[in-house]
Amino acid sequence: NKRIILKDYVTGYPKEEDMVLVTSTIGSKVPHGSQAVLVKNLYLSCDPYMRWRMSKPVTESYTTPYTPGSVLNGYGVAKVLDSGHPDFNSGDFVWGITGWEEYSLITMPQALTKIKYTDVPLSYYTGILGMPGLAAYAGFHEVCSPKKGETVYVSAASGAVGQLVGQFAKLMGCYVVGSAGTKEKVDLLKNKFGFDDAFNYKEEHDLAAALKRSFPDGIDIYFENVGGRMLDAVLLNMKVHGRIAVCGLISQYNLTQQEGVHNLFCLVAKRIRMQGFIEPDYRHLYPQFLEMAIQYIREGKVVYVEDVVEGIDKAPSALIGLFAGRNVGKQVVLVAPE
Ligand code: NDP
Repeated sequence: NKRIILKDYVTGYPKEEDMVLVTSTIGSKVPHGSQAVLVKNLYLSCDPYMRWRMSKPVTESYTTPYTPGSVLNGYGVAKVLDSGHPDFNSGDFVWGITGWEEYSLITMPQALTKIKYTDVPLSYYTGILGMPGLAAYAGFHEVCSPKKGETVYVSAASGAVGQLVGQFAKLMGCYVVGSAGTKEKVDLLKNKFGFDDAFNYKEEHDLAAALKRSFPDGIDIYFENVGGRMLDAVLLNMKVHGRIAVCGLISQYNLTQQEGVHNLFCLVAKRIRMQGFIEPDYRHLYPQFLEMAIQYIREGKVVYVEDVVEGIDKAPSALIGLFAGRNVGKQVVLVAPE
């Protein structure tokens, strides 16, 4: 059983050497009398939040830190090989928290969801039909209170969450602009995901001026994925009574000290509502979200781009690639074919 172990707590940017591939053995059956589920992992999801779980815990977080010397875990898609739990049978496909390893014995199978629709690539359950999809849906519809015709800005817009937020906003009849870090990604935003406009933030010295160009009358909704100097520039361009949904702050995750935000007074002057959110608070919406999203996919109303690397040995480099913007679309690791 090949597994990825966290060597030690990480400071600064993560490196491939912070994770090591080891081989161990695992039984072919669930221990007698246990309610555990034995799975074969098919896809692993690379998610930015995994980075903070690698840090030595200093502040309270809604997820638990990883333990150095232990196998990493995260969202994934797996096939059940053996089950001691009445809700799962061998042959079922499931998604949820699993180990970064070829086979996992999952002792808390209540964290797994049985996959209902298998007419789409199963990897979609790490993204559009899984945690990032629900985060995009809940963050946009529940936190941003969008209205038809409003102006929406999405940062890290070509990624797992951003590409979906932009498309949900277009389906609502909003004017949507996104930013990303390469020309290829900007082209995707405009030509594949249907954003009204997009720009490469790495080519803009003055982000506030770039936003002013895209939104001459201001931004109603900002879907925040990156933080730092982008947030400062956005604050200057928000409209009165604008809303900011703080989904994540990826530009800050590898810093030992977070950058200061200078334009916070805009919150007062423009009566802006800024709210952080986490996807687990919206799990009750998952069944209705799944029905909506699967329809959108089947009808081609929403398109979805993944970046799939093959082999568990590639997982560490795929994960750290998120922080250099190497992924084009949702980063997934194919561990074993279905
Ligand atoms: P992505 O698929 O968007 O991958 C990360 C992307 O972030 C990179 O490709 C890169 O794209 C961009 N990026 C990396 N470093 C920086 C930087 N320093 N400044 C600006 N952009 C950067 O990831 P996700 O869609 O999975 O996640 C997006 C955000 O949403 C993250 O902040 C994440 O933590 C958060 N999140 C929050 C959830 C919640 O429940 N609140 C759930 C899921 C995700 P580029 O080339 O454009 O720079």
